[in-house]
Amino acid sequence: MELNKNFNIKFAGLKNGKHVFNFEVEETFFDYFTVESEEVDFPEVLGKVEVLLDKMSTMLTVDVVLNLTWNTWCDLCGEDLSLDVHSTNRFFVKFGTEDSLNEDILVLPHNEFEFNISPFIYEFIITSLPSKKKHKDGECNPETIEKLNDLKPNSSNKENNPLWDQLKNLS
Ligand SMILES: [Zn+2]
Repeated sequence: MELNKNFNIKFAGLKNGKHVFNFEVEETFFDYFTVESEEVDFPEVLGKVEVLLDKMSTMLTVDVVLNLTWNTWCDLCGEDLSLDVHSTNRFFVKFGTEDSLNEDILVLPHNEFEFNISPFIYEFIITSLPSKKKHKDGECNPETIEKLNDLKPNSSNKENNPLWDQLKNLS
């Protein structure tokens, strides 16, 4: 499988200075990475990505602005949940023959004229997802929360607590 060519940025021929590129992250965006990482359960993150490229004579500075929505579910009540994913991320493109030891720097051969930005967008999406996903306070489905509360063990009931039985036997 090949990287989606719609995410190629052709920088050769651009004047020095700032340039804006707009991309759309659709469901098919993740196909390549799903295959590469053998990930099955992929997050559904969709929306717009703005790329601000600053071309200098020897390097490029690339700012990637995510304006995405993560369609997921709430960890507390299990109902559908849409979370905004907004972040600005920067990396650099330099030219040479040595591999980059820094993941924020992409090193291209001197004669290269374009690069594919989708692996960077993918990486920035993954690192921008919030680790906890839940509704704002009070916006969870009240029925589900009530059921979950009913299922919680009742700590005041010492009769059914095996630890309590053990303590009783000790005395
Ligand atoms: Zn919820």
